[in-house]
Amino acid sequence: MKDCHYMSENIKVLILGELVKGSLSTNTREMLGKGRELADNMKGRLVLLFMGDKLESVAEESIAYGADDVYLAENPLLKTYQADTYLQIIEKAVKDIEPGLLLMGQTSIGRDLAPRLAFRLGTGLCMDCVRLDIEPISGLVRMTRPVYGCKALAVMICKTKPQMASIRPGTMKPAEPDRSRKGKVHALATDLDISQIRVKVTAKVEEQTDSVPLEDAKVIVCGGRGMGSSDSFSILEELARLLVGAVGASRPPCDAGWMPATRQIGLTGKIVSPNLYIAVAVSGSSQHMAGCAESHTIVAINKDPDANIFAIAHYGVVGDYREILPPFIRRTREILEGKGGSRCC
Ligand SMILES: Cc1cc2nc3c(=O)[nH]c(=O)nc-3n(C[C@H](O)[C@H](O)[C@H](O)COP(=O)(O)OP(=O)(O)OC[C@H]3O[C@@H](n4cnc5c(N)ncnc54)[C@H](O)[C@@H]3O)c2cc1C
Repeated sequence: MKDCHYMSENIKVLILGELVKGSLSTNTREMLGKGRELADNMKGRLVLLFMGDKLESVAEESIAYGADDVYLAENPLLKTYQADTYLQIIEKAVKDIEPGLLLMGQTSIGRDLAPRLAFRLGTGLCMDCVRLDIEPISGLVRMTRPVYGCKALAVMICKTKPQMASIRPGTMKPAEPDRSRKGKVHALATDLDISQIRVKVTAKVEEQTDSVPLEDAKVIVCGGRGMGSSDSFSILEELARLLVGAVGASRPPCDAGWMPATRQIGLTGKIVSPNLYIAVAVSGSSQHMAGCAESHTIVAINKDPDANIFAIAHYGVVGDYREILPPFIRRTREILEGKGGSRCC
């Protein structure tokens, strides 16, 4: 393990990029925005690494969004994420590129890969960061992450090289594209030791949904156990459609099969930070709030006036959601259709 001091000049900031339908994911663009700022402050280079199959179209977009160097590891075996293959490639790439700072998304890939990689590199890792800045005295990157179910923020500095962090989606400003930017594209060798691949992915099933992905939604309507049944989520779908948002759920509705597991928000689900989070019949457990407490505005609807969610929500309505939501939806529709005054959000 190498100690890392005064790395304020010429460092490389390496980001593990992720794609959604062939384009940079929102979280990747957010890391590029922050990575560009840090690399500029440290007079360094911003480096983006992708692992996958047939990646050539990604390089141009990556450079436009701020990367100085793009490394592409292409191999049919890298088409779908699995730790055994991705680890082999990224471990070697990090040793060759020698970044001072390595960022991944706090996504299903980053959550699985980052701790394994940090262990192999013998370095420290701060997961689920919501802020990164430079500590003025040491020049090291300071990492801030929510703790105790988002009741407090912990500020940490990894003193080993590379400093490693995973970044919570929705917490950093995404980079803006500049199509005139120039950068370098490098092909990475992808010789994989097949004997180390212990898992075979036999199929990848994409969730069939016409709504906005949870991670990208500016508005999330989340239902809890108090919704009572799978059918009752249709009223949340109606509200989410109206607000151009997505429907999420606490863990019990997912465990009960009322909602797909991909919709779970919380410690063991997705971590989201929308502009508006409407929590309906959710009690506000620390495990749930760990996934949504960074939302800009939280509105809670719960029939129990003592529910913990009211201690965290910015606005609360005490009552039965079955009585509250129908007139709320009606009035919201009137406002949005311009029949009842100015728009609300
Ligand atoms: C290791 C671990 C990880 C976990 N990970 C997660 C996670 O990722 N996400 C997660 O959500 N949980 C997670 N949990 C579970 C968590 O501890 C809670 O059990 C869960 O969040 C409770 O979900 P809930 O608020 O929907 O249900 P409840 O706590 O049962 O609350 C239901 C609420 O609905 C209200 N209600 C009932 N009927 C109505 C009505 N008609 N109108 C209005 N309000 C009504 C009730 O007053 C109550 O407050 C985890 C737990 C553990 C131990």
